[in-house]
Amino acid sequence: MSTGVKDSFGGYRSSLVEVVRSKGIKDLAVLRAIATVPRHLFVPESIRHRAYDDCALPLGSGQTISQPSVQARSLELLQLTGREKVLEIGAGSGYQTALLAELAGTVLAVERLPELAAKAQVSLRSAGVNKVTLVVGDGTLGWAAWAPFDAVVVAAASPSIPDPLVRQLRIGGRLVIPLGNLGSQRLTLGIRTEEGLDTAVIEDVRFVPLLGQHGFHGERPAHD
Ligand code: SAH
Repeated sequence: MSTGVKDSFGGYRSSLVEVVRSKGIKDLAVLRAIATVPRHLFVPESIRHRAYDDCALPLGSGQTISQPSVQARSLELLQLTGREKVLEIGAGSGYQTALLAELAGTVLAVERLPELAAKAQVSLRSAGVNKVTLVVGDGTLGWAAWAPFDAVVVAAASPSIPDPLVRQLRIGGRLVIPLGNLGSQRLTLGIRTEEGLDTAVIEDVRFVPLLGQHGFHGERPAHD
């Protein structure tokens, strides 16, 4: 295991793996990543006792750490083999970033809020995750300097698929994004073709908004 963290939470992680598996996740690498990454290091101290529940939790700054089974579904859809270069938009707590580090070769992550990015850096370091480059910025613009990506995962809800993300995906590459309005969305898988993107709707989900040039404009989430 790459995080190298020794702790006494292994039993809780195993229970979470069983819950996630019971929700239909079959990818063994994804299940192993959940069994490995210490989620309690990515949630605020005051709710650490809930770290291994399969639910979204408040992160502060009006944001949430997503429900593990929904993250697992997104990651399973990417079909990662361990070698890919992946772009994550909306790193939030850094938990999904850490899962990606277990599943891909290189992880580039963008988070809009500096205070969350700073906390995520600390959590990633304490979890022993080092394969990750996390920056503050507007992820709807992608990260042209590192393109093309083998996969892109967006962890915030968008009214449409940001164009730069499609352009920065290699042909055959996979993109997962919650698409819809501020209240409800559909987790959507896109596969890059020569012409554009083939898309498929996977399931109903609820994420905080993607705020940026190619996401929602002006609307701000309620702050804690
Ligand atoms: N995957 C995260 C959950 C993040 S919640 C986790 O495991 O904790 C969604 C995150 O997207 C929030 O932190 C929010 O600040 C961020 N976000 C919203 N719009 C963004 C944008 N344009 N670029 C980058 N991050 C954005």
